[in-house]
Amino acid sequence: MLAFSSLVSAAAYFPPSDINLPTLFAAFVGCTVGSLIPDMDQGSNRLWDLLPGGDFVGRVFRRVFLGHRSLSHSLLGLYIFYRLMDWFLPRLLNTPFIDPQVLLWSVMIGLVSHVAADGLTEEGIPLFFPFGFKVGFPPIRRWRIKTGGWFENLVIFPGTLAYLFFFIHGHQNQLLGLLRLVTG
Ligand SMILES: [Zn+2]
Repeated sequence: MLAFSSLVSAAAYFPPSDINLPTLFAAFVGCTVGSLIPDMDQGSNRLWDLLPGGDFVGRVFRRVFLGHRSLSHSLLGLYIFYRLMDWFLPRLLNTPFIDPQVLLWSVMIGLVSHVAADGLTEEGIPLFFPFGFKVGFPPIRRWRIKTGGWFENLVIFPGTLAYLFFFIHGHQNQLLGLLRLVTG
């Protein structure tokens, strides 16, 4: 939900100069997948269920990710992922069809909003991995939220929905302009 709200906000503030329907679709899917990627360090991650042999690959990947909430929740991890996708996407995609830059940034928005949201939880995130210490916001651990607790369910979730509703309402022109590019 946070990833989706971030994507819609970015689309209104930094609209692409041109966008087609496949790219718009890819942006939504990419943002959703991006928001799930950091927790692929857990074998139980939903993304693994979608892949054949996902259980096995999931176990291997946990090693690559160097344990739960480590590399994949750090600046270093985000940077490595950005560089990999920057190289990979233009070679993988039929670029006149799907804009690799729009997809790249949509995936990054998903990733960053996941890591930022985890930073609000008690556990915190190892932002400066390989340095082991964890950080979070607010800096005092007791003030942060419990994953899946009442604050997340009763404040963060409805708050995000309300934000999205008012944001879309307040930025109709920008967002409709974007859709007009799609319908061309
Ligand atoms: Zn996470």
